[in-house]
Amino acid sequence: MRFSGFRVIREAVTGHKGWTPLWRNPAPKPQYDIVIIGGGGHGLATAFYLAKAFGQARVAVLEKGWLGSGNIGRNTTIIRSNYLLPGNQPFYEFSMQLWEGLEQEFNFNAMVSQRGIINLFHTDAQRDAYRRRGNAMHLSGAGGQLLDRDALRRMVPFLNYDNARFPIKGGLYQPRAGTARHDGVAWGYARGADMRGVDLIQNCEVTGFRIEQGAVRGVETSQGFIAAGKVGVAVAGSSGRVMAMAGLRLPIESHVLQAFVSEGLKPVIPGVITFGAGHFYISQSDKGGLVFGGDIDGYNSYAQRGNLPVVEDVAEGGMALMPMIGRARLLRSWGGIMDMSMDGSPIIDRTPVDGLFFNGGWCYGGFKATPASGFAFAHLLATGRPHATATAYRLDRFARGHLLDERGAGAQPNLH
Ligand SMILES: Cc1cc2nc3c(=O)[nH]c(=O)nc-3n(C[C@H](O)[C@H](O)[C@H](O)COP(=O)(O)OP(=O)(O)OC[C@H]3O[C@@H](n4cnc5c(N)ncnc54)[C@H](O)[C@@H]3O)c2cc1C
Repeated sequence: MRFSGFRVIREAVTGHKGWTPLWRNPAPKPQYDIVIIGGGGHGLATAFYLAKAFGQARVAVLEKGWLGSGNIGRNTTIIRSNYLLPGNQPFYEFSMQLWEGLEQEFNFNAMVSQRGIINLFHTDAQRDAYRRRGNAMHLSGAGGQLLDRDALRRMVPFLNYDNARFPIKGGLYQPRAGTARHDGVAWGYARGADMRGVDLIQNCEVTGFRIEQGAVRGVETSQGFIAAGKVGVAVAGSSGRVMAMAGLRLPIESHVLQAFVSEGLKPVIPGVITFGAGHFYISQSDKGGLVFGGDIDGYNSYAQRGNLPVVEDVAEGGMALMPMIGRARLLRSWGGIMDMSMDGSPIIDRTPVDGLFFNGGWCYGGFKATPASGFAFAHLLATGRPHATATAYRLDRFARGHLLDERGAGAQPNLH
């Protein structure tokens, strides 16, 4: 079934009897060419591109819960390509280009909204760093403008420009950035993959790997053994636990990240705004809720909920940036598990086990990367070679000293 305006009108006048489920619910087959573990954004996007761009039909995605139950449905929905390092910037720009055509490509409304992002700067040194980042963005075609205080004031007059501790001096603006409806992205990729013959198997937890003579032969699951020539792991916050079943220890820690939504308000925030003197980012959903977040919890955890010190820290960031937020009432908050790598950048690579491939270490930034991550992982699985924009995302870069430390924070995952 294809979605279109015509289809919506036809269903409206015929009693909405023609809609069909977005995907099938198949039983697992005994064997696939490629099995993807994890039905989050990255796993589903990988399966979609494997089928669509690389002609692989015998593919299954195994998800321990329901599709989209992990971070893909829990994030603050920000998409952008405003990175600095040559190993990162072209990859995230590739992702932005895929976002721009995504809804047409998988024929699903994911509410991709390019309403822009402003990263505020508060010191001269920070302005210089943003200028450098803006130049790197221009090199990959990502665009971007450095706004001075007056230009910024015209766009977002409600910020606290003269805060005694954190005066706002300007911002780095990327007009092509924005937001997308996170679960719509998961559903769109799932539907697109299912339409092309991929089996999406929910309530199917991978409990072990069958490895013989250094090569993966398949996976043990809660629904029995499933044989596969290649296995791709894309389980985000569960990366350490899943790869440990294959005997591998990753340069990744898992931490909780919380998100918050206020009651619905009239439109006030034009795009995404990030505070440069603390960690606070905010946008406004189409329903009117202010959607915001801050730092991860400082300790390792696999819990999908946060605690009060971070709630207080995020509220303080919001109040310092835009005091009017103090009058909005909080509607909901929740947590997801972040796979924090040692340098803050991701890994898309083969592993020492033949036929076993890994995708993870996305930290805070995996949602915006979903299309490029899926495409690059599909490229690696199908061809055995890394995609041109993802050659830096090697698993062994930590041993070789080729780090991609965008924030310059060192090997302290909770600071990335
Ligand atoms: C609160 C919050 C805010 C965020 N905000 C942003 C943002 O604004 N912009 C941005 O770019 N990024 C953001 N992120 C990060 C982004 O959401 C993640 O990096 C990205 O979604 C991770 O990839 P994924 O979608 O594949 O993960 P997930 O959706 O977590 O998918 C992994 C899946 O693997 C499954 N799984 C785990 N173990 C097994 C097993 N043994 N067998 C089978 N399945 C298994 C899980 O159930 C899960 O569904 C945010 C994250 C959070 C939590």
